[in-house]
Amino acid sequence: MTTTKPVLIVGAGFSGAVHARLLAEAGYRVDVIDVRPHIGGNAYDHVDANGIRVHAYGPHLFHTKNKPIADWLRQFGTFVDYTHKVRALLPSGIMAPLPINLDTVNLVFGTSYTTPEQVADHLARVAVPIAKPANAAEYLYAHIGRDLTDLFFRPYTKKMWQFDLEDMASAVVKRIPLRSDRTDTYFADDEIQMMPRDGYTAVFQRLFDHPLITVALETAFDRAMLADYAFCFNAMPIDAYFDFSAGELPYRSIRFHTRTITDAPAQDWSVTNYTDSGALTRETRWDCLPHHIVQETGRRTITAEEPCDYRDNNRERYYPVKTADNRFQAIYNKYKAIADESSSEMAFIGRCGTYQYLDMDQVINQSLASARRWIAARA
Ligand SMILES: Cc1cc2nc3c(=O)[nH]c(=O)nc-3n(C[C@H](O)[C@H](O)[C@H](O)COP(=O)(O)OP(=O)(O)OC[C@H]3O[C@@H](n4cnc5c(N)ncnc54)[C@H](O)[C@@H]3O)c2cc1C
Repeated sequence: MTTTKPVLIVGAGFSGAVHARLLAEAGYRVDVIDVRPHIGGNAYDHVDANGIRVHAYGPHLFHTKNKPIADWLRQFGTFVDYTHKVRALLPSGIMAPLPINLDTVNLVFGTSYTTPEQVADHLARVAVPIAKPANAAEYLYAHIGRDLTDLFFRPYTKKMWQFDLEDMASAVVKRIPLRSDRTDTYFADDEIQMMPRDGYTAVFQRLFDHPLITVALETAFDRAMLADYAFCFNAMPIDAYFDFSAGELPYRSIRFHTRTITDAPAQDWSVTNYTDSGALTRETRWDCLPHHIVQETGRRTITAEEPCDYRDNNRERYYPVKTADNRFQAIYNKYKAIADESSSEMAFIGRCGTYQYLDMDQVINQSLASARRWIAARA
């Protein structure tokens, strides 16, 4: 350790918590601040008045192919196996498996296929021949044809992003899996799917539980703080840090609508996607996630999501906006260049610091690598 001043970490979400933990374990004093009244960032959860554990910023499902990341995280809580399932409610009232699979194709087209080969043949027949898809619409047309694209993805994408599929980058839909068999689990390609038995917030409490870490909530970053610190890892929005001098980086946000039910039917999936052109994209039945009935009250909580511009939701930034022409990425690149030139004592981290959508395993992976590089450079 080469410094006597502590390190400032802005943001008590995964990026900040992982940096804080590694630096403290390496002997550095760390002060973590967050403008919100709780730790955990967007992974924060709590138990509501119905005795149900609710994720305050939408359902957080941990899934990864990266076993070392899962093993690292397991040090900070007990995790239980969990297999995520999603159903799509079609405008016709049909509840279809999502990702699209053999049963989805049969439900939509009235076919009675029984083998993956039949489904693959069907999709090959309806696919539109487009050699080099230039946007999300062309990518989907080339893979699943117009009917499935327009039913499952066109209205959903419009309400989620306020863009037509033609204006979206292919990258946004490339991650959507497609199955020709009966597999009806959402993250079937990830060997590890797990849920913290006592919730994410308890995991964060353990991450921050170190004698060299302090955490101050309801504390917004102020440049004057920097004088007291040797270095700053900063998860705040990079455009806000630079007073939007190169333009604003837009985000989609979500308004959450929560309701209580008492006659909850049994179901083996937790998330239902709405494919119609109404305002809502999906709803979560929290009691269908493992260990989410914390106290039995007979009541169940459901949260529906209504996407909106982040400026219409108290500047709550959730999803960076990716367009086919990468115009916002170009703005981010300007901020990154300014940041690289202007300070060797600050690094922007996490979702809003680097303007990219990151799943939890990705942000943990990046943060472990970043903190280890920083520590090694000062050893
Ligand atoms: C709706 C939704 C659903 C998701 N579902 C999943 C999922 O199922 N699986 C999955 O793996 N990932 C999911 N994610 C992604 C997951 O939330 C992120 O990987 C994770 O939150 C990123 O951590 P972070 O530290 O980068 O950002 P955050 O968790 O956002 O933490 C950043 C923190 O910085 C604080 N901050 C910002 N500005 C300031 C400031 N000026 N001063 C002080 N503090 C500040 C914020 O208050 C926030 O608490 C989801 C994300 C969203 C939005």
